[in-house]
Amino acid sequence: MRAAIEASAEGVSVGLVCKCLLGKAHTVMAEGGIAAALANVDERDNWKVHFADTMRGGQYVNNWRMAELHARESPARVRELEAWGAVFDRTADGRILQRNFGGHKYARLAHVGDRTGLEMIRTLQDHGVHRGIDVHMEFCVLALLKAGERVVGAFGYERERGQFKVFKAKALVLATGGIGKSYKITSNSWDCTGDGHALGYHAGAELKDMEFVQFHPTGMVWPPSVCGMLVTEGVRGEGGILTNKEGKRFMFDSIPDNYKSQTADNEEEGWRYTQGDKNARRPPELLTRDHVARCIVRELKEGRGSPHGGVFLDISWIKNRMRNAPEHIKRKLPSMYHQFKQLGDVDITEEAMEVGPTTHYIMGGIKVDPDTQASTVPGLFACGECAAGINGANRLGGNSLSDLVVFGKRAGEFAAKFAKENKAGQPNPAQLAEVEDQALAPFNRNLSSGASFEGPYQVQFDLQEMMQSLVGIVRRQDEMERALEGLHRLLERARRVGVTGHREFNPGWHTALDLTSLLTVSECITRSALERKESRGAHYREDLPNKDPALGAANIIVFKGRDGTMQLRREPIPPMPAELKQIIEEMQ
Ligand SMILES: Cc1cc2nc3c(=O)[nH]c(=O)nc-3n(C[C@H](O)[C@H](O)[C@H](O)COP(=O)(O)OP(=O)(O)OC[C@H]3O[C@@H](n4cnc5c(N)ncnc54)[C@H](O)[C@@H]3O)c2cc1C
Repeated sequence: MRAAIEASAEGVSVGLVCKCLLGKAHTVMAEGGIAAALANVDERDNWKVHFADTMRGGQYVNNWRMAELHARESPARVRELEAWGAVFDRTADGRILQRNFGGHKYARLAHVGDRTGLEMIRTLQDHGVHRGIDVHMEFCVLALLKAGERVVGAFGYERERGQFKVFKAKALVLATGGIGKSYKITSNSWDCTGDGHALGYHAGAELKDMEFVQFHPTGMVWPPSVCGMLVTEGVRGEGGILTNKEGKRFMFDSIPDNYKSQTADNEEEGWRYTQGDKNARRPPELLTRDHVARCIVRELKEGRGSPHGGVFLDISWIKNRMRNAPEHIKRKLPSMYHQFKQLGDVDITEEAMEVGPTTHYIMGGIKVDPDTQASTVPGLFACGECAAGINGANRLGGNSLSDLVVFGKRAGEFAAKFAKENKAGQPNPAQLAEVEDQALAPFNRNLSSGASFEGPYQVQFDLQEMMQSLVGIVRRQDEMERALEGLHRLLERARRVGVTGHREFNPGWHTALDLTSLLTVSECITRSALERKESRGAHYREDLPNKDPALGAANIIVFKGRDGTMQLRREPIPPMPAELKQIIEEMQ
């Protein structure tokens, strides 16, 4: 939406296509906040600290230029949201309030309780609709259309009626979000099937960093129907603590060396930090997500988990420190309060939550130019979660919402520029015929193969199970090789998937069509993870637990070879300019 707003402001005609209803994109679920060095709560904050935090969190395989632009521009983008009507929580003197979050040195996340994404979407939607953008909702794009090397449009179908549609465009911005539905346990919504990653890949775009999948440490583990649903890091930012079944705050046991100087070594100091004491260091619960998730897995493996296979996250304990704690919790974390009360019958003002890791975010995606968001395919741009670069090996919480508006704006601006500088291209009729045939194939298989076809749900389920267990939080060479073999078998099965009924209101057909994206991104993740023979950030290899300096200087690129098979290469990270290097050194 931010890209569409910018492109429209540049004076080109803009269409916005979304698989979901307008305003229901996954961003609506974002809870904790949007990271920007506004320095409203802590005057020591500035873009340089934010840049250094982002690079440290990403373990230095980030695109440093994107991390720099993001840190420099996010304050302006947040103020712009405010000017467009977003009502952020306020400081006592009326400025935008900011909260603590994992890996951010100072309180940096502008927020609206724990419903920040809803406010952001509402604001962008209002603003976008008034600009006169054409919205095509509940249209699912299945293929990008090309004329020669260039992208000239997209082919898709209307989900309700099943009608096909061709969108012609001089330039195209992919902003399709995440890939969480490749895994069994995920915080992501139904439409996070990696479509943009797969559309870009099949159209010839390069993807990078696909091995880096973020497992958020705190998802609900109980009841089973909501397993994986996110429990915002804001709970820990407000003073929530992680304990095991012995009641021990286990995060104090393992503070990584590169965070020791910034992390509290006692409970008292950690508490003071969450209450805004500028002389205190952050509690270890607010270390980066990759690390916290692995510590939780360790507790589980060593038998110190909670009754339903998680650990305890307790915010209720703050009643020992604060008067009116229940009211405070309900005011700061209203969604969490209702989520646990209504779904799990747990009153978080009185008792601890049970939580465990959940597939949350992919750092990898379409490789883009850091300034323009142009992909390697002419006319094709990408931004948001489906693009790669800013986060490196691990994303800091809050950096996605700011990524969306910083690089959404840039993608819109440069896509509009491309559209103004280039004539419209004509889609190739042969490609159109082919993608139509592919889209209808699940119906035709049903007719031609009688009872021998397989339904799509079992294939999807088996894929999610396999990715969760073989390419999950803790990875091993042999298991990932098994996953690759499994992917070949699943691909064969997907080619035989058939559906019954007709094109109207047919969820089986939608699922059959999603399989292409899910299988493509799963293969990208698995091959890249096999290629990164080290542990770094979110990519943890039990068989190779150390970092390899050579790989610390490279990104893994995936692309479709001329023969249609998936190819990989290591790409050296360009040298960082001296002034950025100096910032990182000063902030160590
Ligand atoms: C529960 C939860 C809480 C989070 N909280 C925070 C937070 O507090 N702060 C933060 O920074 N980050 C947070 N994140 C991460 C952040 O919300 C996401 O990374 C971000 O919202 C992704 O935005 P996006 O615009 O890239 O994609 P999305 O918001 O997912 O939008 C993608 C759009 O593309 C459409 N689409 C997808 N495929 C197709 C297709 N084939 N054809 C047509 N349309 C398609 C979708 O329908 C949707 O409209 C959270 C994530 C989760 C899961």
